[in-house]
Amino acid sequence: MKNINVAIDGPAGAGKSTVARRAASILGYIYVDTGALYRAAALFITERDIPGSDVENALNEADISLRFIDGVQRVFLGERDVSELIRTPEISMAASKYSAMPPVREKLFGLQKQIAAENNVIMDGRDIGTVVLPDAQVKVFLTASPEERARRRYKELSEKPECPAYEEILADIIQRDDQDMNRETAPLKMAEDAVLLDSSELDLDETVEELVRIIKAGTDRSAE
Ligand code: C5P
Repeated sequence: MKNINVAIDGPAGAGKSTVARRAASILGYIYVDTGALYRAAALFITERDIPGSDVENALNEADISLRFIDGVQRVFLGERDVSELIRTPEISMAASKYSAMPPVREKLFGLQKQIAAENNVIMDGRDIGTVVLPDAQVKVFLTASPEERARRRYKELSEKPECPAYEEILADIIQRDDQDMNRETAPLKMAEDAVLLDSSELDLDETVEELVRIIKAGTDRSAE
């Protein structure tokens, strides 16, 4: 029987990972955060200080993989677990920059396809419904206004000692949206057959509930 593939795309800070992780655990699917792959590639490139013209060659040496430990995704560079190291603002910006390069996307494409072929997955990213899994049974575009996304990130970071100002977070979000939507290769855009889920006015539980409802409706329909 064909595995169930759910594609969730949307801009930075829309809550894709939190919402998709919770929906995956309710439904018993694997949650795949593809942003972590782009972040690992960015870490590889920045740690070695590789100039743009050498990225394609250098990436041949990059051994990026996802492992699922008790169902939880960890990202590895070789045997090094880099799951935490990739979560800095610098790597966020670098991932957005390098993910615009076709060799970076090509390197990670096969890996994403393979995981989706072998498992029931909820996969989140920017181009999952449009490029990576165009045949996914369910596609969702999860978004919220830039201000609401910045407010949520500010709240999350405000518990940490070095919290950037709200204005700085908002500017970063707007810059990443712009880079992700306006690049030539696999830009962030809603697939024609995706369901739009705008969480600006919803809290976390309501968004998860709505996502699970959309997925159940979509998978029931595709099983008919
Ligand atoms: O989702 P996350 O914020 O971790 O992604 C980091 C960056 O990786 C994004 O800003 C985007 O540029 C890139 N990305 C991508 N395609 C994906 C997932 C992430 O281009 N499928």
